[in-house]
Amino acid sequence: MHTANQARCSCGALGVETHAEAQFIIACHCRACQRRSGGAFGAGAYFDRAAAEVLGDPREYARTPEAGGTFRSYFCQTCGSTVFWTIDDHPELIGIALGTFETPLTGVAVHSLYERTKLDWIALDAAALHSPAGYTDAT
Ligand SMILES: [Zn+2]
Ligand SMILES: [Zn+2]
Repeated sequence: MHTANQARCSCGALGVETHAEAQFIIACHCRACQRRSGGAFGAGAYFDRAAAEVLGDPREYARTPEAGGTFRSYFCQTCGSTVFWTIDDHPELIGIALGTFETPLTGVAVHSLYERTKLDWIALDAAALHSPAGYTDAT
């Protein structure tokens, strides 16, 4: 039986509770994910959307990624942390920002995407998959 995990923003007003194991983690080095996260790369764990319960009232920011479709990120109206996002082309999934979890995730495969804009001091040797762009270019 999987125990619930909690993800939450800096102030605690926005959270997500998950009731399943993460399916995979994406470390995304694209410029849009660098900007969204404010970090060196975007990192999120993907779950079955039906197994994730949103707690709170986020604001939405929608953008069109390079691969097409619509990427919707959800952030706290008080502190601004992005806690989760959805992709219209994959309505069955929810991405949750890796740094927001109470209990760090372990044993989940990491997919490192858009490495063509990866900062040169980052080496994700443990990643299960690497790609210069999206999944179609993966090795
Ligand atoms: Zn907050
Ligand atoms: Zn990205």
